[in-house]
Amino acid sequence: MSYINYSKKKNNIALIDCNSFYVSCERLFNPKIINKPVVVLSNNDGCVISRSTEAKKIGIKMGEPYFKVKDLVKKNDVQIFSSNYALYGDISRRVMKVIKEFSDKMEIYSIDEAFISLAFVENQRLNEYGKEIRKKILKWTGIPTSIGIANTKTLSKVANYIAKKNKTGVIVLDKEKDIDEELKKFDISNIWGVGKQLSKLYMKNNIDTAYKLKNISNTWVKKNTNVLGAKTVMELRGIPCVELQTIEPKRKSCCVSRSFGKKVENIEKLKESITTHCLSAAEKIRGEDQVAKTITISIRTSPFDRHREYYSNSITIDLPIATNNSIELIKAATEGLIAIYKYGYFYQKSGITLSNLNDAGKEEFNLLAPLLETKSKSLMKAIDLTNTKYGRNSISIAQAGVSNSWKMRREHFSKIDTASFDSLPMLKI
Ligand SMILES: [Mg+2]
Repeated sequence: MSYINYSKKKNNIALIDCNSFYVSCERLFNPKIINKPVVVLSNNDGCVISRSTEAKKIGIKMGEPYFKVKDLVKKNDVQIFSSNYALYGDISRRVMKVIKEFSDKMEIYSIDEAFISLAFVENQRLNEYGKEIRKKILKWTGIPTSIGIANTKTLSKVANYIAKKNKTGVIVLDKEKDIDEELKKFDISNIWGVGKQLSKLYMKNNIDTAYKLKNISNTWVKKNTNVLGAKTVMELRGIPCVELQTIEPKRKSCCVSRSFGKKVENIEKLKESITTHCLSAAEKIRGEDQVAKTITISIRTSPFDRHREYYSNSITIDLPIATNNSIELIKAATEGLIAIYKYGYFYQKSGITLSNLNDAGKEEFNLLAPLLETKSKSLMKAIDLTNTKYGRNSISIAQAGVSNSWKMRREHFSKIDTASFDSLPMLKI
């Protein structure tokens, strides 16, 4: 196999992962819950998606539906929060900004994880360097992290997992003997890139630890898995096969959809929801200086409601001029909604997707475009600036409604908005 020729060059990759990220974000603004069990719920207060160490100890499982843990919550005085993605996104940006200072090669892997290259750091200094990163993130953003450092991404994931479990904060795996010792205790299903299917296959063949996988024969891997499987084995051996993706690919589409807190029958309420989705999608693509040529609108009733007929429909509209103007997009979306709406159904979800995205200014030539563009650009810019300065939705469109009775169920919402002065803590004198 071609990968046999890979050399073991010094790579040193660090994986920095925020601890119980959503919970940590809520704690930033609510110090009273610091040593208490805390849980954050998914959209519409559905399932548990983030747990503090205290909540884990009580036995609350990841992904469990909220109604199933209600007894545990009551008994142990667990603090519950509805998800606040605007807050988490903002704190994430701050954390990433701090991490960026420590390396010129960085891959943001998820909202709370990033890989960075530490190839320029001497091996004996890795631990100290990791501790420095951790300390600075904590000091500047208030978010605790765990850091795993190793020669490959897969091994840095292993190191990170151990760092989190042992609460040591930083784990460096750079000596063969230490790596092997850890891999012997490391469950096959916890390896990065080993999904459910692959894990089943390995287990069937008595490969139940990372160490066994590392020492499997190349012929067996070639015969029984694919390229990704082979790469994982190589990475466990300390041979880098998965590169850092330092350039963030621009988004190809932008989708905003929500399930409603209460079912919606009325078209006016659906219009409100579609308008609100358009506003947030348009703001997102404007933030990346993109324009959309196509918009898709979709609505559906609940597939689980046995007493009522199911209805689901969507429509895609090709816009005459690619745009990121909220008003234009809302106009098109409203027309689309009217075309697919059917009276007499109880709708549960609506969504819009902006696609055919392109960099603004690169769209095809249109006689009217330059004229319209300057006008709309300054209006949109003014809206975005106002909303950044005075809080989200300070300026909105009337059609987005004010009561928003369809909105997500968020019974435990912390109402913290880092873009709004109103949510700054006040000192009572
Ligand atoms: Mg995390």
